[in-house]
Amino acid sequence: MTIFSPQHQEYRKRLRSFVEAQFLPHADKWEAAQTLPRSVFLDLGTEGHLGMNYPVAYGGRELDFGYTVILSEELPRSHMMGLSLSVLAHTTFFAPLLLSQGTEEIRRAFLTPSIRGEKVGALAVTEPGGGSDFVRAIECRADDDGDFWVLNGEKKFITNGPIADFVLVLARTRPEPSVHSLTLLVVPADTPGFRVKESMRKLGMHTSPTGWLSFDGCRIPKSYTLGKPHLGYFYVTHNLHQERLVGAISAVAAAQLVLDDTIGHLKRRIAYGRPLGELQAVRHTISDIAAELEMARRFAYSVSEEFRDGQVAAKEISMIKFKVVEIVQRNVERCLQLHGGAGFLEDNWVTRCYRDVRVLSLGGGVSELMKDLVASYLRL
Ligand SMILES: Cc1cc2nc3c(=O)[nH]c(=O)nc-3n(C[C@H](O)[C@H](O)[C@H](O)COP(=O)(O)OP(=O)(O)OC[C@H]3O[C@@H](n4cnc5c(N)ncnc54)[C@H](O)[C@@H]3O)c2cc1C
Repeated sequence: MTIFSPQHQEYRKRLRSFVEAQFLPHADKWEAAQTLPRSVFLDLGTEGHLGMNYPVAYGGRELDFGYTVILSEELPRSHMMGLSLSVLAHTTFFAPLLLSQGTEEIRRAFLTPSIRGEKVGALAVTEPGGGSDFVRAIECRADDDGDFWVLNGEKKFITNGPIADFVLVLARTRPEPSVHSLTLLVVPADTPGFRVKESMRKLGMHTSPTGWLSFDGCRIPKSYTLGKPHLGYFYVTHNLHQERLVGAISAVAAAQLVLDDTIGHLKRRIAYGRPLGELQAVRHTISDIAAELEMARRFAYSVSEEFRDGQVAAKEISMIKFKVVEIVQRNVERCLQLHGGAGFLEDNWVTRCYRDVRVLSLGGGVSELMKDLVASYLRL
């Protein structure tokens, strides 16, 4: 693949050793405790892994998108898809918005420490009243009060919300349910009136903290507005493309790891006097899984190459968001089946991965919405 040069592959090797040495040994403990230490961000930031595509002026490394692809593929080697989600949320959900829409003051105060891993951020769009149709569902209001916005409302399902030092909040600044009614604000977590109402317990992604946040009369300086008032919808939706692409690439990498583990298991597991992997039905299943993952990966790589060159293939990214995720979910489930009872054990990473990837057809835009988008691109 032309997306990776020898330099990229060299970086992959270094990052892989780092993830396997720093995070993998803690997987069972952190998964059981359903926790993600903040030191993860600092460890990655200190080594420069959180600033791949960001300007050197803000502590980044100004490298191309291929390096972000590698980051998203190597984090699952921690055997913690939650960690992977939280770190990718950090580097691709909100940080690009700080760069593209933030003033110099905002970039220095929030982007630079995020790239160093000293500060953790979150992007808060979804509310208790809804996520897919957020333009109508958002009730969180920012009222104009001179040099300040006064923020009231709630946000739910927010990745990294419980540990965030600041949250980018998409708030209603005009009453009408229009794409021109929402404003993106930077809300520091020490703002009076901000509170984590609940750290949410989930089916999977246990090493990714998810928060239900509440804002009660938070006074936010107008200088903490990202971009122009009322245009937050456009900033957020544009950035969703990268989030969706990177999330799918990470999911394929996780499924590939699960497949590799499964092949190892099938070679070792003896039944009927020979390894399970010698049964023809098993061999065919494995070939089928490998072929589906390869197709998914190559599709995602080709769209990533275009993305690296500045082209956002919105239709294809929407396709990837539902189809690649579907392929991943189906094949991780098939691998689990091939593990027998061991595939149902908490300490087995295959079991955890099966649970974790379930969220991928929900978070970041449900599959049904992606299919609607694709149909619209096809002018249906
Ligand atoms: C682990 C996790 C992390 C998350 N992180 C974040 C985050 O960091 N920031 C953030 O803002 N949000 C986050 N979310 C929220 C996520 O983006 C929303 O859950 C998602 O957008 C769906 O919104 P909803 O839950 O309100 O479902 P709803 O919009 O209520 O949809 C419910 C169901 O209705 C059906 N449906 C919806 N739309 C359509 C359609 N157009 N056509 C047909 N059927 C449809 C689908 O079956 C869908 O699953 C996270 C969610 C989870 C679970």
